[in-house]
Amino acid sequence: MSDLDAFLEDDACSRGVVRKECSTALSPSRLPGLDLALNPYTRCGHDCTYCYAPYIMRVSPSEWGGKVQAKVNIPKVLAKELPRKKGVIGLGTVTDPYQPVERELRLTRRCLEEMVKVPTKVSVLTKSDLVVRDIDLLLRIEDAEVGITVNTTSDRAAAVFEACAPPPSRRLAALSALVASGVRTYVFLGPIIPSITDEDVGTLVNAIATTGVRRIMVDRLNLRPGMRARMEAVLEQRAPDLLLAFRYDVGSPDFYGNAISAVRARCREQGITCQDAF
Ligand code: SF4
Repeated sequence: MSDLDAFLEDDACSRGVVRKECSTALSPSRLPGLDLALNPYTRCGHDCTYCYAPYIMRVSPSEWGGKVQAKVNIPKVLAKELPRKKGVIGLGTVTDPYQPVERELRLTRRCLEEMVKVPTKVSVLTKSDLVVRDIDLLLRIEDAEVGITVNTTSDRAAAVFEACAPPPSRRLAALSALVASGVRTYVFLGPIIPSITDEDVGTLVNAIATTGVRRIMVDRLNLRPGMRARMEAVLEQRAPDLLLAFRYDVGSPDFYGNAISAVRARCREQGITCQDAF
């Protein structure tokens, strides 16, 4: 039995993993700057309360953080597709390629190994510092960049809606390591969430600046049907002291407009390029 089989049998991930075979690795992407999408996993163990991927994938939000589906043959399928499918690959367009099961399954790492063999352009997006493990491969790919999502400096606040993802302090450390290694790196500052994102969002931009990152993409919270109620229920359970401030600002276009203006202003001061995410 291989390590992978043993892991799947043991169900070592607390949320469980389901083995899945895929017939295609790279699919067309309409996201700005990307031509192709690569997602080694379906569903996501980070289980962020505000995640809108379940709406795209037509999965019930309550099931999104359940059993993760691992496309166990994706490195082999990718190896066949890489020579004939050209363009920038978005790695992690729907689910996080460095979600907890990746530590054992290494499907993302094995995909990067294939990209080393063929001239490839890839843009990775994650909430996990596990990406640092793969710096050796990222440096050997023809054109690779990594984005890490950070929307607060507070580990406590982040844990409210991203309880299963590494805290922002670890993500900022990962950004420093990536920048120091020479991997092209950016921050996805989003979603901006009332009561979670620093009230003085300039503090967050300053923290990002200390890592050496010189590009930020900023995005507001995109509420989908039922999401606000779910977020309020989570706040009530995990951080009732934040509920009032959240309710006050969550539906206010001014709140997001002001926060994004403040991000842009601090980026200008820090010499950081700031872009709208979508
Ligand atoms: S890390 Fe991304 S894909 Fe995973 S649950 Fe959070 S928002 Fe969704």
